[in-house]
Amino acid sequence: MSKLVAFAAIQGAYNIVSQVEGEYKKALETFNADTPVGFPNTAYYLPVIYSLLGIKVEKLEDMKQVLEVARKLLPPHIKGMNHLPYLGPLLDAGMAALFCFEIREALRYLNEPDFYLHSEEIDEEAGKIWLGAADDTVFRKRGVEFVDGSAPGFAAIVGAAPDPETAKLIVEEYQRRGLYVFLAANHNHTTVAQQLLQAGVQIGWNTRIVPFGPDISSAIFALGFANRAAMAFGGVQPGDYRRMLLYNKNRIFAFVNALGEVGTDWAAAAAGAINWGFPTIADTDIPQVLPTGICTYEHVVSNVPHAEIVQKSIEVRGLKVTVSQIDIPLSFGPAYEGERVRGQDLYCQMGGGKTQCTELVKMAEMNEIEDGKVVLVGPDINEVKEGGAMPLGIYVQIAGREFQTDFEPILERQIHHLVNYIQGVMHIGQRDIAWIRVSKAAVQKGFSLKHLGVVLHAKFHQDFTKIVDKVQVTLFTKQEDVDKLTQRARAEYKLRDDRVEKMTDEDVEIYYSCTLCQSFAPSHVCTVSPERTGLCGAYNWMDCKASYEINPTGPNQPIVKGECLDPKLGQWKGVNEFVQKASRGAVSHYNFYSLVHSPMTTCGCCECIAAMLPSCNGIMTVNREYTGDTPCGMKFTTLAGVMGGGQSSPGFVGHSKYNITQRKFIAGDGGIKRLVWMPKMLKEELRERLLKRGQEIGVPDLIDRIADETVGTTEEEILPFLREKNHPALSMEPLIGG
Ligand code: SF4
Ligand code: ZN
Repeated sequence: MSKLVAFAAIQGAYNIVSQVEGEYKKALETFNADTPVGFPNTAYYLPVIYSLLGIKVEKLEDMKQVLEVARKLLPPHIKGMNHLPYLGPLLDAGMAALFCFEIREALRYLNEPDFYLHSEEIDEEAGKIWLGAADDTVFRKRGVEFVDGSAPGFAAIVGAAPDPETAKLIVEEYQRRGLYVFLAANHNHTTVAQQLLQAGVQIGWNTRIVPFGPDISSAIFALGFANRAAMAFGGVQPGDYRRMLLYNKNRIFAFVNALGEVGTDWAAAAAGAINWGFPTIADTDIPQVLPTGICTYEHVVSNVPHAEIVQKSIEVRGLKVTVSQIDIPLSFGPAYEGERVRGQDLYCQMGGGKTQCTELVKMAEMNEIEDGKVVLVGPDINEVKEGGAMPLGIYVQIAGREFQTDFEPILERQIHHLVNYIQGVMHIGQRDIAWIRVSKAAVQKGFSLKHLGVVLHAKFHQDFTKIVDKVQVTLFTKQEDVDKLTQRARAEYKLRDDRVEKMTDEDVEIYYSCTLCQSFAPSHVCTVSPERTGLCGAYNWMDCKASYEINPTGPNQPIVKGECLDPKLGQWKGVNEFVQKASRGAVSHYNFYSLVHSPMTTCGCCECIAAMLPSCNGIMTVNREYTGDTPCGMKFTTLAGVMGGGQSSPGFVGHSKYNITQRKFIAGDGGIKRLVWMPKMLKEELRERLLKRGQEIGVPDLIDRIADETVGTTEEEILPFLREKNHPALSMEPLIGG
């Protein structure tokens, strides 16, 4: 143990405690002692203090007790005595400093309520790049990734790199490994966050690069995040500091990178982090703290060149990360899943209403295809002008001794997240409404459409070893080929859909869950029954059953539906229990057949969204491809933005196109007879099935009584039409309160 580091850290802790005591006194001069304090929208108070001391800081005066604890923790000053036993006092000093940092940040929220953005994303134009404490919504969504393994850990970077390029290099290296990067503090009047922006790197929760704040005290948000994860997902009780710190040491793989000279404040923070088992790896020449004891390996490692800092950090913390070796010129991994390709970054897009984009996975005979072969038929992306659009057909053939046609839709649905894993490429939708956006940066780095095939080949082999022996991918970009594929695909989709056509919900005792979308919508749980296909349209009951066969621990689990609690609205005891658990308590129950009363949760990939139209005593629905106004006052994109976060929103529900003509469609609210408005294109697409369904319910011309945008896009505009057509909804019992 180095005496110098201990000296600096203990000195730092003394300074920090005194300063924050002063800041607290000053706050008392401005605010009443009972003024509420805390981080916004959290149930964890000041989480480091709450988790370790069990103290709920709710009012300004509650800080006093914490400051007293901090003061008491300060060890005697180092005088130049013996060598080794500094670790205990050093850790205490660090802890005192960290408690004070958390109070300092809470005081900042009090004094400058607008300093931090309350958002997942920065607002670069407004110059607001600091996100501060994650609120509980963000935390629940992201925190679980540390527990379920989709994020191996986090790197807390304090300070600034010598230049933007170095900052970019280091951070992207972490990002590639799926680690979160938490940014705090400044050095030489700049910060890594600012450097990344200069280097054109997107920062924010969505890219896993989180700019907490410009001061070293904001590093406390990283530790608070880790402790909340331990309380929420690890069941550690507030105040049980021993278990809390052990949990972090053993379960949360995190470390600190100090970029720039380590002054006394940083040293105190680094000492504090050792309590968590989080070591510090520095690029400057500070005395090392090598003996292992608390951290997995060393405590403080210094003088690490920038080119090696990532590797070294991972080694020191003892992290195991697997980097998928996928041969494309772009980075690849779950960290890029949430990344957007925005207007000014866009090079070219396929689908999204501009062109047709279709995906189809089909089984092939073993000798029919060649494993790893990727063929592009038609022009590649660089042959399109910047800002352009092109049609695209992705046709994947799979052969395998254990492969069955039932598995086709499961693999097809993976295309969505796998393409999203490519840096600079964004994927939305599925089936024949896929939409891919490719950024300029990706094209500059040499992205070719063929790389989609490379990714699918590699990942299908990796993720579905058991059933996949050969994968061949053909990409079509000529209009006539895409049209041909689309036609064929639609026939396939119909076949798949028809497999559940004759089944009823009463026929089966088992439904299936789908939680594939939780990475975007954390509380979202689809329950798929024969008469309610998944809202993305890509998974029906049969598909979920097949998916469960392939992967018994995967996202599609059987749910024994159990006692029926409400046959009209469609609610079952077994489903409720499952949903409660799978949403981690966020959703306690929902109804399959109602949008008025506790509807099923909705995520962003639904094919359609239905909404109540109270003056028409009915409901409307709108599909993703329809971009115009609707009588509920919102366009599809707005609806999806508001409803698509995974919550249950009474009055609205996401559903698949196919579901509209399933017998149980909003049966609890009166069924399809309530449908008074839908876009013309959707009507046409479903014409045949709507006619058939109309016959079944004794209103054969129902389709002609449903208004569309040619009639109007407000309730007032369509009501006369509904009256003229004698739409059945008008004579039904009231939609609300009925
Ligand atoms: Fe699964 Fe539902 Fe997402 Fe479709 S929308 S992939 S069914 S969770
Ligand atoms: Zn989804």
